[in-house]
Amino acid sequence: MRNVGYAYSPEFLKHDYWDHPECKGRLQRVMQLLTDTQLTQSASAIPFEAASKAALATVHDADYIDELDRFCIHGGGMVGADTYAVEESFDVAALAVGATQAATRAVMRGDLERAFALVRPPGHHAFADHGEGFCLFNNTAFAARVAIDEFGLERVMILDWDVHHGNGTQAIFYQDPRVLYLSTHQSPLYPGSGEAEEIGHGAGVGTTINVPLPPGVGDAGFGYVWEKIVVPATRRYRPQLIIVSAGYDAHWREQLFQVRMRASLTGFSAMGRSLSDLADEFCGGKLLAVLEGGYDFDVLANGVRNTMHNLLGLASVVDPYGIYMGGETPIEKHVALIRRIHGL
Ligand SMILES: [Zn+2]
Repeated sequence: MRNVGYAYSPEFLKHDYWDHPECKGRLQRVMQLLTDTQLTQSASAIPFEAASKAALATVHDADYIDELDRFCIHGGGMVGADTYAVEESFDVAALAVGATQAATRAVMRGDLERAFALVRPPGHHAFADHGEGFCLFNNTAFAARVAIDEFGLERVMILDWDVHHGNGTQAIFYQDPRVLYLSTHQSPLYPGSGEAEEIGHGAGVGTTINVPLPPGVGDAGFGYVWEKIVVPATRRYRPQLIIVSAGYDAHWREQLFQVRMRASLTGFSAMGRSLSDLADEFCGGKLLAVLEGGYDFDVLANGVRNTMHNLLGLASVVDPYGIYMGGETPIEKHVALIRRIHGL
């Protein structure tokens, strides 16, 4: 097995709000399953501390950091329409950033070959100047920043397979050719961005690749996207590190508002295995996963378990729910358009 680590703290459970889908139960179920299946012994626990305000300012605006800190000190509340912060949330979110940074450093130094940052709150909807979509700080963006700023990487790929477009991550690196942001997401769906024509700006033109997909796409469609877009785009870019924004809400059992995708756990595992192969081909094996969405606790836990198998290099796939039996929406035309836009 490969040398794999995970970054988790029970402190992540202190960010919690009654009846909200992004709740502590998600990560509790993940850790319970990883413990029950001894995966917490096959991988090592990565030590970490909370990111300081100076460290947070490598991605976020100082004003936003201070504002969120004050908001939490005064008891918290709603940050926009759908995103909460409780009194502990600032510290929890700063710890999630610290966990993601520590996991990145361990992989970049070679202490570990691969790692999974099992963090909450999620991050890919967090912009430099505000949080939204259940996200406060953009964990994945910090991973890319560490790889670039501290280790001098010139090409980092963020593959975001969460069912929602990672609007925050896209915005943070929209003009930066050192980060290839590639997102598959349902469209239309929150947050409404991630059209195929959004390809980056300035020096970053071409290093944002959006794959908006209609509702009803399942394993065959995702497999087709991988074959026609993800694999050739990765081969062309030749990333030195692959970071997965790992959300599991494109699964057919997901009940979150307006989500209608049809991927199975077997399908997610195939995507993870492909990224593992690409990391071997271009990155000396270096692969980092950062937890994003997924609101069906059991699907989420088993999805993380399968991704851990991918990271460890185990072939085993666990899929208690099977594949979706009702057919899929065809996407050949969508894929052809995206290939044309990006010259793939
Ligand atoms: Zn999501």
